[in-house]
Amino acid sequence: SERTLVLVKPDGVSRGLVGEVISRIERKGLKLAALELRTVDRATAEQHYAEHDGKSFYNDLVEFITGGPLVAAVVEGPRAIAAFRQLAGGTDPVEKATPGTIRGDFGLEVQFNLVHGSDSPESAEREIKLWFPAL
Ligand code: ATP
Repeated sequence: SERTLVLVKPDGVSRGLVGEVISRIERKGLKLAALELRTVDRATAEQHYAEHDGKSFYNDLVEFITGGPLVAAVVEGPRAIAAFRQLAGGTDPVEKATPGTIRGDFGLEVQFNLVHGSDSPESAEREIKLWFPAL
């Protein structure tokens, strides 16, 4: 079994899609190991997105992710990292994500792509430590 960090980003929360996302995670057969609504501070957001530091969209991304409450979760199951990324769909909700995925069904813009999921075992470990240090 594997663990991954999932975020329902502030756009997903403000649009009322928390239940939809959690429901898809549960219907897939994945389990929730942690689940919390919180507003994240700038330092945490910067650490979370450290790999994008210096990119054109980095500042907007940090502003956006700190701009309202989000839902952070640890999701667990066999191949949980890939399984959630399959549920999420590609980063660009129109060009990459296909219908049937969270981003493909509900997203329009890259910046407002509703969810985050860790992209590797190394990222998952780093992100779970950052968001849920007690786990
Ligand atoms: P995430 O890490 O959030 O799951 P991802 O792994 O699909 O997304 P990354 O390439 O790691 O995509 O980008 C991280 C996040 O940065 C994206 O989810 C998106 O919100 C934002 N982002 C990426 N590219 C752009 C862009 N060109 N313009 C605006 N925002 C972007």
